[in-house]
Amino acid sequence: MIVITDKKNCVGCAACANKCPQKCIVMREDNEGFVYPNIDKDSCISCGLCEKVCPVLNLPLHRPVENVYACYNKDRDIREKSSSGGCFSLLAEHVLIKGGYVVGAAFDSDLSVHHIMINQEKDLALLRGSKYVQSKIGNIYVNVKGALETGKEVLFSGTPCQVAGLVRFLGKEYDNLFLVDVVCHGVPSPKVYRQRLKEIREKIGEDVVSVNFRDKTLGWHNFQLVFTGLTGCVKESKQESSYMRAFLSNMSVRPSCSVCHYNDEHSSADLTIADYWGVETKFPELSDNKGVTVVLVNTIKGNRLFTQVRKNAEVWNSDFTHASKYNFAMKNVSKQNPQREEFFIRLGTEKLDALTTELLKRLIRGNTQYICAKKR
Ligand SMILES: Cc1cc2nc3c(=O)[nH]c(=O)nc-3n(C[C@H](O)[C@H](O)[C@H](O)COP(=O)(O)OP(=O)(O)OC[C@H]3O[C@@H](n4cnc5c(N)ncnc54)[C@H](O)[C@@H]3O)c2cc1C
Ligand code: SF4
Ligand code: SF4
Ligand code: SF4
Repeated sequence: MIVITDKKNCVGCAACANKCPQKCIVMREDNEGFVYPNIDKDSCISCGLCEKVCPVLNLPLHRPVENVYACYNKDRDIREKSSSGGCFSLLAEHVLIKGGYVVGAAFDSDLSVHHIMINQEKDLALLRGSKYVQSKIGNIYVNVKGALETGKEVLFSGTPCQVAGLVRFLGKEYDNLFLVDVVCHGVPSPKVYRQRLKEIREKIGEDVVSVNFRDKTLGWHNFQLVFTGLTGCVKESKQESSYMRAFLSNMSVRPSCSVCHYNDEHSSADLTIADYWGVETKFPELSDNKGVTVVLVNTIKGNRLFTQVRKNAEVWNSDFTHASKYNFAMKNVSKQNPQREEFFIRLGTEKLDALTTELLKRLIRGNTQYICAKKR
């Protein structure tokens, strides 16, 4: 039976809850808003399956990246609406056109973020774009297994630890499964996200109906966080947004992210996608500020899928050294912010803007290296 003595040792993937034959594991939010398994010990039969599927107790092995590409979707509208170059949509569309299923993170009607499964192209917009909050897995791994057993193709996308959780849950290879992860330096707490939504609601005096974490109106480099209400909206640059500052300084992220084992050539996915920051230093023709995805091909299967979709993309051959040069999460683990504990204690009783500003100012005075990465 899973016992969590240190919260850093649980990524919240819910593989254990999906696997438990007694259904005695429920994922519950802690006081910081992150989910952890809660076990009904009376129903547990000590089968050990939860431990067998846990991607923290069974870490992925090192696997070198085979090929690296700079890539963007030829469809200008999809590229504009995607966080980087719109390569996720290329891959997903290919599987959907063949009648397959695609799984990824989507907003619910209350704007919370969950993993869902789609099988129609018209629903692809739901999965497009980064949602900077930890997505709830629910029982999606069980549904993925069911879809795989129909023989249809399934593309699963998520953070590297969610992909690692699915791989452990399935426990065997499926030819009809494609795994895609995003390079990830951390996931913010759903509790912080809910508080921000509440504050924006109070500010604009109406319900927030949609959130865009990566609005590119001012360009890919100057992306904005946009909360849209029924009649108005609030736009925040990543430098001024307290939500993004708390995220990017690792103050609002999950404890496990400071010991992450799933990026840097430890991905369990066939393909890894990320922002190709610094792409213009190698390919000056890619400096249009509209967004470029770096695609890391990790497996033969990933290579096959990418070869099938690249006719709909503009593609340049690159290398891991260059792709990771300006992308710190590709080679490093985020250092835990020393103000993190105080942040979560005061959250809920103080406004996010004032709290984040005060704690980050204190850090900058004390230690200018506060968000520096630890080399793996
Ligand atoms: C929490 C998080 C942190 C990230 N950190 C980095 C980083 O440090 N460096 C970097 O280069 N790139 C990072 N990314 C990836 C980047 O933001 C883009 O998602 C990636 O470049 C792909 O862009 P795209 O234009 O090809 O596709 P898009 O359409 O923009 O990507 C959509 C994909 O993201 C997945 N996704 C969206 N939100 C979530 C979520 N909450 N949880 C799991 N999966 C999600 C969807 O399922 C889908 O697969 C991060 C993404 C997330 C979600
Ligand atoms: S040991 Fe088996 S029954 Fe007990 S919680 Fe784990 S998976 Fe469930
Ligand atoms: S399987 Fe996932 S949710 Fe369960 S204990 Fe391990 S890391 Fe946590
Ligand atoms: S940083 Fe690592 S542990 Fe945290 S969400 Fe991303 S992949 Fe998972």
